[in-house]
Amino acid sequence: MEIKKMMVIGAGQMGGGIAQVGAAVANVPVLLNDISEEFINKGLKVIEGNLSRDVKKGRMDETRKEAILKNIIPTISLKEAKNVDMVVEAAIENMEIKGKIFKELDEVCPPHTILATNTSTLPITEIAAFTKRPEKVIGMHFMNPVPVMQLVEVIRGLATSDETYEVIKAMSEKMGKTPVVVNDSPGFVSNRVLMPMINEAIYCVYEGIGTPEAVDAVMRLGMNHPMGPLALADLIGLDTTLYVIEILYKGLGDSKYRPCPLLRKYVAAGWLGRKTGRGFYTY
Ligand code: NAD
Repeated sequence: MEIKKMMVIGAGQMGGGIAQVGAAVANVPVLLNDISEEFINKGLKVIEGNLSRDVKKGRMDETRKEAILKNIIPTISLKEAKNVDMVVEAAIENMEIKGKIFKELDEVCPPHTILATNTSTLPITEIAAFTKRPEKVIGMHFMNPVPVMQLVEVIRGLATSDETYEVIKAMSEKMGKTPVVVNDSPGFVSNRVLMPMINEAIYCVYEGIGTPEAVDAVMRLGMNHPMGPLALADLIGLDTTLYVIEILYKGLGDSKYRPCPLLRKYVAAGWLGRKTGRGFYTY
């Protein structure tokens, strides 16, 4: 099956980026859904800004930009999903909200429609259980910022069919991304590997082994990471970082994932990283 039309749910940071690459790179019409026109317009403005930057840099012309923007159709009604081949859900990270969306999509969409979620932490198998088509539910974990980052972590739930996986793999490539398939497990692979490294870096500061600057410099200069783990945690947000480490800790039940007390302390203090001006560094 070829995806000829898609819907993206949530016009935020991730949904906007997914809609942009759907319309601009895969060249398919994209319905962009959010709970209000205000949110959709906010998302559209970001997309327009991204495309204008491409025009300025000579990567595309004005006509192409207008054509891409025309390819993104705003809608506040999920019922419009009645004639799409695929939906990528990128609403907020909340199981109750995602469950409601998937239940409604299952009722509205034709039987062939694939329902993908961009969740970073919620189990795909549990989201799929809100539908009567678990074989057509799959994780499509884009990285931020979507137009720039190469990876799509494709997550197969317990019941995801081979056919669904093949269609999503092909569509990811059509969107200019490199899909990597993994199975459903807390943190998938991306956060399972990244977050314990960040947590361990925080322990190094907590135990007085090194300053944040020293820990980050070791990883940048010694391991060729483009950014140190503590600077990265500040960028992700220390609240989100703690939330994901808690998911690993609870989901895998192994004490090796216990969040560092210093991380808990910073979050309790409201030191959430860049977004609050203070984390491991001051901004
Ligand atoms: P965001 O807050 O920027 O955007 C979420 C959007 O969803 C908002 O515009 C909100 O109005 C909308 N929304 C909320 N409830 C809705 C509903 N019922 N129907 C339609 N729209 C609804 O969040 P984000 O950072 O774009 O994250 C979206 C999803 O992507 C989350 O599941 C998140 O875990 C995942 N994710 C985020 C990142 C990241 O770095 N931000 C990376 C990978 C995956």
